[in-house]
Amino acid sequence: MQSPKKIIQDLSREELSELIQPAFRAKQIYHWIYHQYATSFEEMKNLPKEMKKKLDEEYTVAPLKQVMVQNSKDGSRKYLYQLHDGHTVEAVLLLMRAKEFHEDGSVKHQERYTVCISSQVGCKVGCAFCLTAKGGFMRNLTAGEIVEQVRLIKKDNDIAANRRVNLVYMGMGEPLDNLQEVAKSVKIFAEEEGMAIATHRQTISTSGLSSKIERLGKMELGINLAISLHAVDDELREKLMPINKAYNIASIITAVKNFPVNDRKRVMFEYLVIKDVNDDISAAKKLLSLLDGIKAKVNLIYFNPYGGTEFKRPSDADMHEFQDYLTKRGLHCTIRESKGLDISAACGQLREQEIEGEV
Ligand code: SAH
Ligand code: SF4
Repeated sequence: MQSPKKIIQDLSREELSELIQPAFRAKQIYHWIYHQYATSFEEMKNLPKEMKKKLDEEYTVAPLKQVMVQNSKDGSRKYLYQLHDGHTVEAVLLLMRAKEFHEDGSVKHQERYTVCISSQVGCKVGCAFCLTAKGGFMRNLTAGEIVEQVRLIKKDNDIAANRRVNLVYMGMGEPLDNLQEVAKSVKIFAEEEGMAIATHRQTISTSGLSSKIERLGKMELGINLAISLHAVDDELREKLMPINKAYNIASIITAVKNFPVNDRKRVMFEYLVIKDVNDDISAAKKLLSLLDGIKAKVNLIYFNPYGGTEFKRPSDADMHEFQDYLTKRGLHCTIRESKGLDISAACGQLREQEIEGEV
């Protein structure tokens, strides 16, 4: 994997057409990559030998190598991938609903999948509760390295090209700190001739880089937005998330209010609940007023402890009390079922991030 070759998945559909002539050849290659899940040019049987050879000299179709997979009892699977420079990133396949059958044996519901992907190796944001932050920041992923996580997961799980999956940019890294490549990956995912994952099935989660939220909004990609809020006053948020010194809560709320939200969607506010830190009802009260006037929904997440952290998981009772306070006052609020909890949570955050029923 020490290959300095360029990554073919980094190319958008248009860029591939510019590179490959005649046009139908580019279409064939796209099909091989995203429908047949080819991992070499050699496999692309209907291409001329010379073309395969030339492409192979300059490009790779296999920029990521699977180095580990862990299976959870609930059907979720967590993957570790190695990049060409030796760094590793995680991605998780979350089984949101298992396949269900009618009594006569016919299929009632297909499985429902969400793939959680990484956008950086490490992260610069440095949140106090996050394991990814502990390792520091290494580098941004390219669009192709982001796209490849989903392609490999679909291939490994025999998920047909035309099967719908949802995507969440909630793995390692801060997507808006790598906005250009992330935006490009969103478009490549949505490409009709490729994986055709509509942008309304993709959710970008951010720690709240307000200026980048504004910029993302202006791109009009049609993606869903999730904000990792975790605290309702600036003092506590600064302690948990140092980025809050640069972008405070008020700036995030303003950016969200300017963000183009699909008519049938809401902006998700993630609230990581940490025992005795942010789990009291006064925080719920403040949250309610903060989100006033925003088409929002709240997702409460149990803090997932790991070795060496000072933070603790909240009690079920406190979680439900927090949720009840909000739902009784008309705010959509769900508690995140932690899928794949029995999988060792190496980065501490690759978790179920599904937007229930709405995606
Ligand atoms: N950097 C982006 C996206 C990746 S983090 C962001 O912060 O939004 C994805 C989610 O995992 C965030 O909501 C984050 O707060 C959460 N997370 C991080 N560490 C966690 C832990 N130990 N337990 C539970 N969730 C965690
Ligand atoms: Fe980065 Fe998100 Fe972890 Fe914060 S929670 S350090 S933004 S990955």
